[in-house]
Amino acid sequence: MLHDKDRIFTNIYGLKDTSLKGAKKLGDWSRTKSILAKGREKIIDEIRESDLRGRGGAGFGTGMKWSFMPKEVTERPHYLVVNADEGEPGTCKDREILRNEPHKLIEGALVASFAIGAHAAYCYVRGEFFRETEALQRAVDEAYAAGLIGDNACKSGYKFDFYIHRGMGAYICGEETGLIESLEGKKGQPRLKPPFPASVGLYGCPTTVNNVESIAVTPTILRRGAEWFAGLGKPNNTGTKLFNISGHVNQPCTVEEEMGVPLKELIEKHAGGVRGGWDNLQAVIPGGASVPMLPKDICDTVHMDFDSLGEVKSGLGTAAVMVMDNSTDLVRAICRLSRFYMHESCGQCTPCREGTGWMWRMMERLATGDARIEEIDLLEEVTRQVEGHTICALGDAAAWPIQGLLRHYRPQLEQRIADRQAMDTEAA
Ligand code: SF4
Repeated sequence: MLHDKDRIFTNIYGLKDTSLKGAKKLGDWSRTKSILAKGREKIIDEIRESDLRGRGGAGFGTGMKWSFMPKEVTERPHYLVVNADEGEPGTCKDREILRNEPHKLIEGALVASFAIGAHAAYCYVRGEFFRETEALQRAVDEAYAAGLIGDNACKSGYKFDFYIHRGMGAYICGEETGLIESLEGKKGQPRLKPPFPASVGLYGCPTTVNNVESIAVTPTILRRGAEWFAGLGKPNNTGTKLFNISGHVNQPCTVEEEMGVPLKELIEKHAGGVRGGWDNLQAVIPGGASVPMLPKDICDTVHMDFDSLGEVKSGLGTAAVMVMDNSTDLVRAICRLSRFYMHESCGQCTPCREGTGWMWRMMERLATGDARIEEIDLLEEVTRQVEGHTICALGDAAAWPIQGLLRHYRPQLEQRIADRQAMDTEAA
């Protein structure tokens, strides 16, 4: 359980003053100049030592990512891009940071940009986040006015500008290279990698793309020390994390907890428990719509971190926990997600463009029970043909929820088909 003294987001519900004055009272922008004085190498080393893994879904080491940027800045400027697209269904953690703790993000952007040799950061905000953009812009204006960013950021002599760019609501613009394309004014279609953004990113220049939460926690890590952060959670899964809990719980919420917290504890302690009690739980999607769901018997004991969820063939993803009780038609629920991914496919690669449509149509047949038993294997085969065969991870994201359903609920699918056949026979 996370103690209040270790909480990073102390105003995530916006109950206190969210302005610069209030943020400073809570510790933001304190000793920022001395953090920068540590120098690029030292900052990157400390973030590496903290073992911070990216909070946007993939869980790649943040310090490691920063270290991929060229050491010398040549005629091609370096850029930091903050991914605030937050399009993953069920996920609503970054918006709380934008709304209520924007100064953590701006200060983090300054520190991260300094570490990678960038003088400009672009924050790509999901288009629907209108109020959040307003809150962020207010905070940016305050930071400029106070000299915290600008030509002489925090009186460090370092020039740093922070730009906000609003997206238009396409899910695929949350993929880092799709986001870069969109930022450049093109269609948000992911790029083939390599080259990776660290060598060829925004406007063809070295770029690091980080999630909002990853950036927002870095000043606190650098103030309190890598050891403190690494001491929370467990090895390779360190620190604290914002969890979103939604669905069939008594009090849906966003809460900061220690990595590795038991899923059951997370739901019961913070979200008021499952509607109708824990025994009424049917399944949980633990990390945003794209990770495989887990049945109740696994939820009883699983812990919420990258490795523990990987071991049960799911993932921490964005840590958006979607709870489904026994009233849920799981096939319908996954079918709806399949439709979402089909709609959001950018259409560049055939397995995704065609496969997401096939998967959705087959899921529809399974949902009504109209499918034949053999189609369950066929659907599994289609998911395997899509998974790992596409330019970006949307193909995997479309395949994994279905694989989770087939892995854990196959007998129920077969029963549904058998019931439908019996009904048809009787009607005939
Ligand atoms: Fe576009 Fe899908 Fe290919 Fe990603 S996997 S590039 S969304 S077609």
